[in-house]
Amino acid sequence: MKRLAILLLMALPLAAQSLDQRITAILPGLLDTYRTLHANPELSTQEAKTSALVGQRLRELGYDVTTPFGKYPDPALTCYGVVAILKNGNGPTLLVRTDLDALPVTEQTGLPYASTNAGVMHACGHDVHMTTLLGAAKLIADLKSQWHGTVMLIGQPAEEVVKGAQGMLAGGLYERFGKPDFAIALHDWAGLESGRVGYRPAQFMAATDSVNLTIRGVGGHGAAPQSTKDPVVLAAQTILALQTIASREHSPLDPVVVTVGRLEGGTKRNIIPDDVRLYLTIRTFKPEVRQRVLDSVQRIPKGLALAAGVPDDRAPVYEHLDAESVAATYNDPALTDRFQKAIGRELGADKVVLIDPAMVSEDFGLFGMSGQIPTALLALGAADPAKLASNTQPGLHSSKFAPYVPETVLRTGIRAVVAGVLDLLGARH
Ligand SMILES: [Zn+2]
Ligand SMILES: [Zn+2]
Repeated sequence: MKRLAILLLMALPLAAQSLDQRITAILPGLLDTYRTLHANPELSTQEAKTSALVGQRLRELGYDVTTPFGKYPDPALTCYGVVAILKNGNGPTLLVRTDLDALPVTEQTGLPYASTNAGVMHACGHDVHMTTLLGAAKLIADLKSQWHGTVMLIGQPAEEVVKGAQGMLAGGLYERFGKPDFAIALHDWAGLESGRVGYRPAQFMAATDSVNLTIRGVGGHGAAPQSTKDPVVLAAQTILALQTIASREHSPLDPVVVTVGRLEGGTKRNIIPDDVRLYLTIRTFKPEVRQRVLDSVQRIPKGLALAAGVPDDRAPVYEHLDAESVAATYNDPALTDRFQKAIGRELGADKVVLIDPAMVSEDFGLFGMSGQIPTALLALGAADPAKLASNTQPGLHSSKFAPYVPETVLRTGIRAVVAGVLDLLGARH
């Protein structure tokens, strides 16, 4: 039956084929690629084989491919970016991005094509994004009569450590290949059932700030606290006081997260140490709120140290880790609306839904150069509806995460991307 359907499909005049029919013809090959990528994950900044595979496949489809591309501040690291260009006459340039990297997670999905790289897993679904991009790239190349302009496909490394977009921009992405008129991407979503696409205009994902605080005191004997300034007690007060930033200093309608995820200090129960280190992650949406929260994270520990009588030269030390921080992902409302409507026409409007913003972070927004280029990142549903209903769906980054029916997720993603490309670069506009 299946073979008959494929034969019938092949008999259709090419131009009359729907995107769905075209995907049916290439899906078996894409699933092979997906399983290969899933079984061979590579960590952030180490995507040598993954970028080579993606680059090679795009080259075979007729794209002009450059890889590895990009530059990290650390000269010892290779930035394994992929840039694939397909020019098709005059018209706008559209950037479409996939990420390439995997996570330090030991896979527990039990899938026959589970990771063969111990302790590393595509637990964020970047293998889905790559395969979607490869499928879309094939259709975009086949449908050249339906669009004009330039398609710039990007394979971005090191998304999980928010280094890769910056690395590609620092390597001269726009100077060398031209500045796009708009940029789009999909990220799979464990909060949305497979077969659907979610969108959120304006604030979509939070900014991340990584901060280290060193709470300094004056150490001494655990039995003689009166002759010390105890940084452990001060660190405990600081952690609790930091919780008042979100709960007391900001509107409950404007989400802020301040988490102390790691706490380090002391050597022995009867020794009061000289200092204690706190490791924070901070999530905000608006640039002005981001700055205010960071100001509070500096002010509160200083005030508490003063109250505890810590000498000035032992005041807390605040360190902001620029390389582990990233601005919020802002979806240009007009572009987001146009993209989601194009997807709605392709999939059916009921398959495209408005979703909530998320406190996780992304570096895709950096391709927008602080609002110079409109960007839109949409969510590709990957959840099992039954597990979603029973609240047992494993989330992204979980060792048990797997897209529910990969065929469905890939088909939906490819249709969405191609619908976006044909709309944004279509003859109608
Ligand atoms: Zn991730
Ligand atoms: Zn991801």
